[in-house]
Amino acid sequence: MSDLAEDLEPVAHRVGFLFPVHIWGLPARVIRFSNHLRMKPETYFFAIAVNAGQPAATLLQLQKLMANRTFSLSSGYSVILPSNYIPWGGPGPIESQQHLFRNARDKMKMIAHDILRGEQKKVDRGPLWQNILFSWLYKMSLRHVPKMDRKFWVDDKCNGCNICFKVCPAGNIEMKEEKPSWLHRCEQSLACIQWCPQEAIQYGKKTVKYQRYHHPEITLQNMLEQAGCLNRF
Ligand code: SF4
Repeated sequence: MSDLAEDLEPVAHRVGFLFPVHIWGLPARVIRFSNHLRMKPETYFFAIAVNAGQPAATLLQLQKLMANRTFSLSSGYSVILPSNYIPWGGPGPIESQQHLFRNARDKMKMIAHDILRGEQKKVDRGPLWQNILFSWLYKMSLRHVPKMDRKFWVDDKCNGCNICFKVCPAGNIEMKEEKPSWLHRCEQSLACIQWCPQEAIQYGKKTVKYQRYHHPEITLQNMLEQAGCLNRF
């Protein structure tokens, strides 16, 4: 993480954070990235927080973090997509998913327009009650996230293909006797459970009956390339 953040310095005039909202707040890796940035103060920073309808105070959290480092987050956008948090259910009916994809495409056009113009805007946020309640839940939960992988298990459909090992952006899986084993530095991306081609990975008891989901325009090759990059830090 620190390498990549520091590599940006010589060339970047605009820097964007594009990340999923985790437990109504910033993923730990985004915090680490922000803390290692070495940029000129005049750099234009923007953020896009992908979420399932409850961005809460995530972008405010990032804005404060940046301000503590004397940077300014010029704009921050919530983009709503189907939920991939399979422990709480599937992504919803296909019609709802397509509705969200259309809205997200429209919003991304608007965001691109803003970024090109260097707009300064208030960051998107949820209602006050959500920001207070969910920010508290986030604070209570964050330190437990690495060990939340204790609920993963693998069923008999596993054929040892290694894909879960390769797509994990946190390098949190090792293969033991051709089966995945989780190393308790989980970031709850859920890439393993969503991308297992056999649907052999489960989380707790309920995921057996839930549909797997990933964005239809993302390929396994995209995931493998991204994980290779993310595992650098
Ligand atoms: S991706 Fe699925 S089938 Fe492949 S090794 Fe992992 S659990 Fe087994």
